[in-house]
Amino acid sequence: MDHRLAPEHEELRRTVEEFAHDVVAPKIGDYYERHEFPYEIVREMGRMGLFGLPFPEEYGGMGGDYLALGIALEELARVDSSVAITLEAGVSLGAMPVYRFGTEEQKREWLPRMCSGEILGAFGLTEPEGGSDAGGTKTTAVRDEATGEWVINGSKCFITNSGTDITGLVTVTAVTGRKPDGRPLISSIIVPSGTPGFTVAAPYSKVGWNASDTRELAFDDVRVPLANLLGEEGRGYAQFLRILDEGRIAISALATGLAQGCVDESVKYAKERHAFGRPIGDNQAIQFKIADMEMRAHMARVGWRDAASRLVLGEPFKKEAALAKLYSSTVAVDNAREATQIHGGYGFMNEYPVARMWRDSKILEIGEGTSEVQRMLIARELGFTA
Ligand SMILES: Cc1cc2nc3c(=O)[nH]c(=O)nc-3n(C[C@H](O)[C@H](O)[C@H](O)COP(=O)(O)OP(=O)(O)OC[C@H]3O[C@@H](n4cnc5c(N)ncnc54)[C@H](O)[C@@H]3O)c2cc1C
Repeated sequence: MDHRLAPEHEELRRTVEEFAHDVVAPKIGDYYERHEFPYEIVREMGRMGLFGLPFPEEYGGMGGDYLALGIALEELARVDSSVAITLEAGVSLGAMPVYRFGTEEQKREWLPRMCSGEILGAFGLTEPEGGSDAGGTKTTAVRDEATGEWVINGSKCFITNSGTDITGLVTVTAVTGRKPDGRPLISSIIVPSGTPGFTVAAPYSKVGWNASDTRELAFDDVRVPLANLLGEEGRGYAQFLRILDEGRIAISALATGLAQGCVDESVKYAKERHAFGRPIGDNQAIQFKIADMEMRAHMARVGWRDAASRLVLGEPFKKEAALAKLYSSTVAVDNAREATQIHGGYGFMNEYPVARMWRDSKILEIGEGTSEVQRMLIARELGFTA
């Protein structure tokens, strides 16, 4: 059993590390301050093939796997989480549903442009009245047999990548009928950007991830062809649960990157900053804080890589993905808090990367299933049914 990365994964890690350091780090702070989407950085990520990492070459991908995606996300998030979440949402929420559940025609239509970063995909599950309880979807899609279309009405909230200039599609969950027992049939439907009646609100003003795009969506008699159904009718909820299971591994890799970035910044700062006539890092109290941060980042990495390896090998990974997401998001918040403390007053200044990391850490305990939802999933895997 070898926990080290294979040479091709290590090469990818180094390439993304260099990109994050040389291209992202010098520019991202300004975008973040202006709450602006970093098109030029995202374009470059597209050119590098990052949006196509886990997809086969026949669809324009790089022929890699979920481990490769996690490696790229971790290295990006060591420097900045806005670009990392843009990649995460574009790949694991935007393109992956099309790859996993789409027809050959849908894959050929959408994947090559998503893999190259020419367009971004988004995933619209959360609604104003239901995030954790995603089965409570209220958005409806009614068949119009006369025109061969779905007619969609409803709204979605907090949707990443949904309103950029390069957003190409949003896959939405909608109720398309009722089962014999009265429960809703939830299906996934591709809605191309610009479809009449489909509107995106202005970006939210967020606490963090400020250089990423998050919006509320409204569907007012939106008509799309019946052929835009993704996978089988009534399987939308199950499909999205699968997508979320995988997505948790990606978020966990991202959280690990943030936790490691806090270590990187703290080691640097503790060696430079002097107090009482010597570097603050000469104090064992500071060294121990950083040692604990490194331990947490390391264990988080072991967790997400374990879940990713199981996924790649085709083994069950649901519990491991939830464990990894729960643990890594918790330690990302812990490390961000400690890194800010080590930076003293400067840690509270937005020009320091740790301030950005602090603001970006909290959402990791909320998005793609809150920490409470992860605990529910883990408990279920342990046999609790209530
Ligand atoms: C920046 C950002 C980006 C996002 N991107 C996307 C996206 O691209 N696509 C998308 O579909 N969604 C997205 N989301 C939505 C996100 O996934 C939800 O916010 C999240 O799932 C929580 O849902 P909620 O906000 O409705 O909280 P709620 O479900 O209302 O939960 C509120 C609180 O109650 C707790 N709770 C709920 N039920 C239980 C229970 N049974 N037991 C114990 N505690 C419980 C929750 O854990 C939470 O602490 C995004 C959110 C944000 C903030």
